[in-house]
Amino acid sequence: MRLSRYFLPVMKETPSDAQIVSHQLMLRAGLVRQTAAGIYAWLPLGLKVLKRIERIVREEQDRAGAVELLMPTLQSADLWRQSGRYDAYGPEMLRIRDRHDRDMLYGPTNEEMVTALFRDGARSYRDLPRILYHIQWKFRDEVRPRFGVMRGREFLMKDAYSFDLDEAGLKASYEAMFVAYLRTFARLGLTAVPVKAPTGPIGGDLSHEFHILADTGESALFYDAAIEDISRDELLAADASTIARLTGLYAMEEEEHSKVADCPVPAERLRTRRGIEVGHIFAFGTKYSASMGLSVQTREGAQVHPQMGSYGIGVSRLMGALIEANHDDKGIVWPDAVAPFQVGLVNMRVDDGNVTSAADEIYGRLREAGVETLYDDRDERGGAKFATMDLIGLPWQLIVGPKGLERGVVELKRRSGGEREELSIESALARLTS
Ligand code: ATP
Ligand code: MG
Repeated sequence: MRLSRYFLPVMKETPSDAQIVSHQLMLRAGLVRQTAAGIYAWLPLGLKVLKRIERIVREEQDRAGAVELLMPTLQSADLWRQSGRYDAYGPEMLRIRDRHDRDMLYGPTNEEMVTALFRDGARSYRDLPRILYHIQWKFRDEVRPRFGVMRGREFLMKDAYSFDLDEAGLKASYEAMFVAYLRTFARLGLTAVPVKAPTGPIGGDLSHEFHILADTGESALFYDAAIEDISRDELLAADASTIARLTGLYAMEEEEHSKVADCPVPAERLRTRRGIEVGHIFAFGTKYSASMGLSVQTREGAQVHPQMGSYGIGVSRLMGALIEANHDDKGIVWPDAVAPFQVGLVNMRVDDGNVTSAADEIYGRLREAGVETLYDDRDERGGAKFATMDLIGLPWQLIVGPKGLERGVVELKRRSGGEREELSIESALARLTS
């Protein structure tokens, strides 16, 4: 992509209305713009990152055997009357009336809708177990939308729903999702702490939140330091024994921790840090299947209400969490896995025919090799171009200038460590395309 044709409105100054660094950087780097309180437009660069996060989330859901569908954002209130949640939900639900005076709502979540779809489509034990998911916008009219996309009103969520014949099946589905979450966050390069979450009056002890450690997190966590010793490779290879080990380690949100009379973790191993909740999994049994009349026939001919669970990931919130975890004083430092472009190609002198023809040639070669490249071909000062590249945080910068070209070299810079190297054009291309 040529920057001269792109839409990348970067800001030099730190916007005064943004309190945390990820929000500031998302605005400054031209990733998003707020269009109403807690509602954001995703600008081209931000949309690319969002799609990359979404893709990793999707790949891990598919790998776990979940099946993707797409449910609408607008829902009928009647669906929610069936579960009794239309009245129970409160002011976070955005209620809408259509021209025929029918009550509608912008979905804050999809338990009711997916239960109704499954009720219409599943008849017997042959149709179970199933895990269905979608990645769709949600709306919750948060009292205090803040921190940019971290707590928006409109936000993108992956939500999955499992249907099993019995509790043992539900436990297996829950574990499959748990593994998918560990792998998803590990692939994103994030350390996520699974925290045992309260389940409320519907009972069951299967609920966990996944928190990314960050000083700006909204939750206060207390956890066993041993959680930090689990390696990325172990998380990528996670199975039931990894879950048993992880969930055996103490981790609680402050409110729950304060109710624990005897904390089992010795003081020297008890860590307290803040966390950003990026995922939440929850086994709730027959709550919706029973209230909404979903039942299937067992092998023996009896009718049972399926055991269900739901599994959310805050896809758009993850972008904020990723920036909280990956930035320095110059800007964002994207991990390779989610970077919007892999290479930022900087033409230092667009008015110099030699430089421009060399840079154009490199750009063409990178494109042919399928390396996503943002080519800064604008007529701007070198200093401004460097500042923009550092701000938007692409993993590699390739700098083409007149002095280097005289010696037959270009400069390759790694954004994360800042290392710079002079290389021939061919060696630089070989490095970036290998
Ligand atoms: P929170 O406690 O942060 O309000 P929640 O418990 O209400 O979240 P869930 O219903 O568990 O949220 O939703 C699943 C996931 O969706 C959360 O783990 C979070 O990552 C994301 N999420 C929830 N609310 C928001 C929001 N307002 N903005 C962005 N992401 C959100
Ligand atoms: Mg939650």
